[in-house]
Parts: sequence; C-alpha cells; structure tokens
Amino acid sequence: MDQLGTIRKQFPALHQTVNGHPLVYLDNAATSQKPEAVIRAVETFYRTQNANVHRGAHQLSDQATGAFEAARSSVRRFINAASDEEIIWTRGTTEGINLIAQSYARPLLKAGDEILLTELEHHANIVPWQVVAEQTGAKIRVVPITENGDLNLPEFSALLSNKTRIVSLTHISNALGTINPVAGLVRQAHEAGAVVVIDGAQAAPHLEIDVQRLGCDFYLFSGHKLFAPTGIGVLYGRKALLEAMPPWQGGGEMIKKVSFSGTTYNKLPFKFEAGTPNISGALGLAEAIRFLSNLDRKALARHERALMSKAIELCSSIPGFTRISSPTACASILSFQLNSHHQQDVGLMLDQQGIAVRTGHHCAMPLMERLELPGTVRASFCFYNTFDDVERFAKALQQIAAGGTFSRAETVSDQAVF
Ligand code: PMP
Repeated sequence: MDQLGTIRKQFPALHQTVNGHPLVYLDNAATSQKPEAVIRAVETFYRTQNANVHRGAHQLSDQATGAFEAARSSVRRFINAASDEEIIWTRGTTEGINLIAQSYARPLLKAGDEILLTELEHHANIVPWQVVAEQTGAKIRVVPITENGDLNLPEFSALLSNKTRIVSLTHISNALGTINPVAGLVRQAHEAGAVVVIDGAQAAPHLEIDVQRLGCDFYLFSGHKLFAPTGIGVLYGRKALLEAMPPWQGGGEMIKKVSFSGTTYNKLPFKFEAGTPNISGALGLAEAIRFLSNLDRKALARHERALMSKAIELCSSIPGFTRISSPTACASILSFQLNSHHQQDVGLMLDQQGIAVRTGHHCAMPLMERLELPGTVRASFCFYNTFDDVERFAKALQQIAAGGTFSRAETVSDQAVF
C-alpha cells in the first residue's frame, strides 16, 4: 500500500544496515521505532522551549507548562478518559503498577484479602503485587491459561470471590500475543466487588483504547512502545479512586503548602507527580498520538494482521517450527521454537542477517514455567514492517532449520562483493 511506504519512510532507524544487511526490525513488542515528528518534537523542545513547568514567572515556563498540559489532554482524548485529572504521568507501565500497589493497595489490603493475577503476566504485573502481598499479608491467586495460551475464563470466574480486592491483568500478553476479553472480565470482577487494573503496555500500540467503555479502574501504558520516547508513561485512574489515595512519592510539585508542622497535598493529577517531570517525553508522546491520529488505524491493523498471516503461512512449512501463540485471539506477536535449536542461537543467527527479534523468557518467567519452556523466539510486527521483511525473516529461519549458519564475516564480505 502506498500509504504504508510513506509511513515507513518517516521512521529513520528502519533505514540502516545491521551486520551488512538492511535492518528487519521485528522487536516491536520490546520497543517501537520513532517517527521523525516525535524526534523533532523532542529536539524542538530542547532547542527553543526548554523551561521547567508549573513554576516560572516567565514566558518560556508558561509556554512549556501549556504544552505539557496540552500533552496530558491529548492522552486523555486518546484513551477517552473523562478528565485530565485522571491522567498521571509516570516513567512507564512498571512505575504505574508500583504506584497503584503502594498507594491504592497497601492501605487497603488486609491478611486474607486476595489479589487476582493471571499466568500471562509480565514481571511488571507480578512483582509489585508480591511486594504489597508481603507487606499486608494479602494472598496472590493466579488464573491459569488453556492449552492454547488463552486465559481460562471459567477459572477466572471460579477464582473471583468476596475476598478478591484487586484483579490485575494484561490486555495483551507480550510473550504470546493473547488478547484478553477485558471488558467482560472487568464486569465480572466488579460484580465480585474487586477493583480492576489493566496492563495496557502491549495493547496501546495495537488497539483503540476507550477506558470508559472498558470500565476499568486503572489502565497503564508506556510511551516507548507507542512510538514515543522512553521514560514517559501513563497511569489512568478513576478520579474517585485517585482522590482517595495517598501520594506515593513526596517532593516538589505534589504539594500545596509545606511547613514543618504539616504538609497539604496538591490536587489531582499533580498529587502523584513529585519532582520535575519528563517534559520532553510528554511532548514526544503527544506528538506520537498526533502522528497516529492522522493515520487510518483500522487500515494499519489490517496490514499488521496480513503480516502475521503471511509469517504464519511461511513459517508453518519450516521443519521443526512450533508456534507458541494463541491461535484464536492474537496480536502482532509470533512466539515460536525451532526444534533442536536453542532460542538464543536462533536469535543470534537472525541478527547476523540483520533481523532483530527477541529471545528468552520475555520477562514472563512464570508463563515459561507453565509452558515448560526455557523461552521462545519472538517476532513482533508493526505497521511499518513490510511483506519483504516477513519473507526475509522466514527465509532466514528456513536456512537455520536446514542447518545453515551465518557468520558475521561472511555476511559482511558478501555485502562488499555485491
Ligand atoms: N507489561 C507488559 C505486557 C509489557 O510488555 C511490558 C514491557 N515489556 C511491561 C509491562 C513493562 O513496561 P515498561 O518496561 O515500559 O515499564
């Protein structure tokens, strides 16, 4: 599609050679590449707008504050939150979950209360809950997956009870690509009286997110997976919950008045934003959202699905290729093993061909344990990938399966000859 070629041109990092080959970037679930517009927004901030926010009695600071708060409004519209007060800047999904665990869950939980997680979770949605469970005596229960890698829905219902205080689950699994039917799960959890946290790190780049339609209480995502810089993320929380929560970190910005006899806290959302925030990151994220909003996201999603189908079709005939992904509801993530090849060797051999994938446990060790696997190879697609990328990936895998090895020196000298 012409439009896709034009879009791809806007991502400079895609247009380079790696180990003597044009880069095929299939590690989008780890982090996305950035379009020119985002890179320019960050550069422009430091060249012409740089000032601290919410503080200065000068024009640059006023302008930076205006742009920073406008970025918050862009995020609010992007996920259809009801108010800017519900949008808290974080460093990313991990920080957001820690904030909820410490500020919402820790004062609430008592011994015997339950936190419901799933076997699909990233460590970022496991460890903060283990910390708070240790602090409070609450218990973690885990919803299993089916043989297909989907969430076991009857088990989800069965594990919900009047002891369940918090349900925290991923919208899309980063390791298998499974898309969870979150709206229905939120309804069930609310009927049981639990509050629901959704880890949207993988969903934000692929799905249109409407937090009011989902009905969740908290939703988290990271800018860097959504074409924005690293170090900026978003915590959405329902206003009534955020208002009742104590601050997580103390410092400047989050206070109204400080004295040694006592401190009063700022209103939302600033109560949760201690210290100088990541201003350029927020502007970069707003630019990424503007970039996406100018595209036909449905067409992009169709292209990603077509890339996945092509990859599955080409890889399925490779001897020893085993797909380890949900066949029913799967985002643009192809997790697999190649018989008798250690996943790290496959990753290295692909890298020698300029093809970037991720290998290992994908920060989901309990899931790998459940699958009885040391890890997988994960190719994750984005709308800027091409069918040529998919063909090069499948061809390289075919050669690896056939016992071919590639050395860096060979590939570089090939390049030199031609
Ligand atoms: N949850 C999921 C599903 C993820 O894929 C990731 C990133 N790999 C995270 C949480 C953590 O995100 P971050 O490292 O940006 O905080």
